[in-house]
Amino acid sequence: SEAYLKGGEMKKRTIAFIAHGGAGKTSLTESILYKAGAIKRCGKVEDGTTTSDYSEDEVKRKISIKSSLTRCQWKGYTLNFVDTPGYADFAGEVVGGLRVVDGAIIVVCARSGIEVGTEKVWEYANKERLPLLIFTNKMDGEDASFLPLLEKAKQVWGKKVVALQLPIGEGDNYRGIIDLLSMKAYLYQREGSCEEVEIPTEMASVAEKYHKELIEHIAELDDELLEKYIEGEDLSVDELKRGLRSGTLEREIIPLLAGSALRGIGIDRVLDAIVEFLPSPEEREPLRGKGKNKEEILRYRKEDEPFTAFVFKTLFEPHLGSLNLFRIYSGSLSSGTQVLNATKEVEERIGQILALQGKEKEEIEKAGPGDLVAVAKLKETSTGDTLCSQKAPIILQGIEFPEPVISIAVKPKAKKDQEKLMTAMGRIREEDKTFAMRIDHELSQTIISGLGELHLEVIIDELRDKFNVEVEVEKAKVAYRETITRKARAQGKYKRQSGGRGQYGDVWLTVEPLKRGDGFEFVDKIVGGAIPAKYIPAVEKGVKEALQKGVLANYPTVDLRVTLDDGTFHEVDSSDAAFQIAGSLAIKKALEEAAPVLLEPIMSVEVVVPDEYLGSVTGDLNGRRGQIVGTASQRGAQLINAMVPLSDMSNYSTDLRSMTKGTGSYYMKFSHYEKMPAHISEKIIASAK
Ligand code: GDP
Repeated sequence: SEAYLKGGEMKKRTIAFIAHGGAGKTSLTESILYKAGAIKRCGKVEDGTTTSDYSEDEVKRKISIKSSLTRCQWKGYTLNFVDTPGYADFAGEVVGGLRVVDGAIIVVCARSGIEVGTEKVWEYANKERLPLLIFTNKMDGEDASFLPLLEKAKQVWGKKVVALQLPIGEGDNYRGIIDLLSMKAYLYQREGSCEEVEIPTEMASVAEKYHKELIEHIAELDDELLEKYIEGEDLSVDELKRGLRSGTLEREIIPLLAGSALRGIGIDRVLDAIVEFLPSPEEREPLRGKGKNKEEILRYRKEDEPFTAFVFKTLFEPHLGSLNLFRIYSGSLSSGTQVLNATKEVEERIGQILALQGKEKEEIEKAGPGDLVAVAKLKETSTGDTLCSQKAPIILQGIEFPEPVISIAVKPKAKKDQEKLMTAMGRIREEDKTFAMRIDHELSQTIISGLGELHLEVIIDELRDKFNVEVEVEKAKVAYRETITRKARAQGKYKRQSGGRGQYGDVWLTVEPLKRGDGFEFVDKIVGGAIPAKYIPAVEKGVKEALQKGVLANYPTVDLRVTLDDGTFHEVDSSDAAFQIAGSLAIKKALEEAAPVLLEPIMSVEVVVPDEYLGSVTGDLNGRRGQIVGTASQRGAQLINAMVPLSDMSNYSTDLRSMTKGTGSYYMKFSHYEKMPAHISEKIIASAK
């Protein structure tokens, strides 16, 4: 393998915990910190006392909403952790967190196994090419089962997944683990202390089977080991460990571990595995970035290289103002120095450098490769920026955050708060790039968008608790359109010729339907100076303005060609204003005669649900006037593609959640406009009149 893979053995690890919500990341982080002696008391999610879920909202909802940073020491190594949230609503935090770690532990629940969210985080981790470990948590829980999960994981993720351990007992009987590399067994006491014992006789043969599988897998990846193995020589534990380590770093092996975060079983082995099998900050491929002139720059991840860091998160803290969290990749950083924000081309002064442990902050003098630190009061820096030495500018690629998928309309409870609301939402947007807001002038509503209903609920709470703005959720209006279905011709004549200066404009317009999505075309076919050329833009202006308020229900009229083909004028009385009015009169008449109809937005919807919910979910989509375009099976889950009218998608995330016990997820984007069925459009037209 490459030289950097053999690089120095820096005693540091920077890794993330990722999972489907509820698998136990937060509990695992807590248990690890406790085991390593970084905290005195092992907190519980139930009591709201964990180190990584500390915000009011997280304690209240008992879920992680934001990534949090923690750290500990283990056997002389410094370990930096990012605990990420598990719900798809907060995927932005996962994507940001995974950008700045060198490896990840996927936590799966021994009862629920591989869930929709597990697959999702797997994809994110793959995108970053991260070496991985899998930790099967809750081995002590009801219905825990290990071997089926192992087989399922191999099926889903391929043969790369190999058991590094086997559990001794399951559920209530869960007592310890067998380490398949050394073939040693460990039984755990209540306090998480353990003793080495013989492998229980009833497990000897299964342990032997998986031991062999592990060794073969390691040997296959290394010619030297393979030769020895084929010759029948024993491979030493050290040789195997080295093989497993390089296989894991090269992403050819994903070791699977087992344990219980709640009972502290197997936690010391997780810590060992992090140190033994996941990469040090120096061991991954060199960083790739761009220089001033967009030239490619490679930078080794070493302390003696120029300083390079990447901002993965910006937070607003009541007393500190904005706090930027960044990862240092190369070089080192001391407080009181100047650095370059290469993305924004500004210099920034680094004041205090803070290391975080959940909400606790500790000031440190200096930080280096692999460290995740926070710095307050940078002037212009925010998420996605590269900080570096002025002498060696480099810009690292920004983070590709998931696009917001659902939108709701909000308004402040007190009208005077509108401006405060906009400022607060601007702040939230700086912290959270998966949140978007805009004012829809057509519908006069403030629209906020995010990754799911829970995401938006959390933002509404945040507006209230952190920014003191109470908002109400309004039903989002649907932006209907109007169009015509046949050709028609009409005259518009505007004439005021009694007393003073008169007004005169007279036009004939022909309207005809265009294809869906073609918008508006204006054609001037005036011949022989029936109307002087100078008035024609005024006619077009009048037409365009009138089209903004359609004749059926005041929605904009689209997808039509308007041809100005005749008219008359008056030498003295004609003017731009008169022709503008004539144009608008003519178009209104023509539209009335061209059989106008309402169009509604159709959304392209992708739903992913476990197999067993396929029937009920497609049935529900049909009930929403949806058309199923196709379904595809994706490893135990179904991907449903459908076209559904937006007006029938209200409340979908809540409904999908309850239909699928929280396992379904969906993505929706605008596809096109389509003619509405008459019986539905009649109601909308009636209510507009
Ligand atoms: P996260 O959403 O992945 O951070 O999961 P949490 O750490 O919040 O855990 C979700 C639930 O599972 C909580 O009720 C925990 O108490 C419970 N839990 C976590 N780890 C274990 C475990 O090892 N065994 C059992 N039985 N329950 C656990």
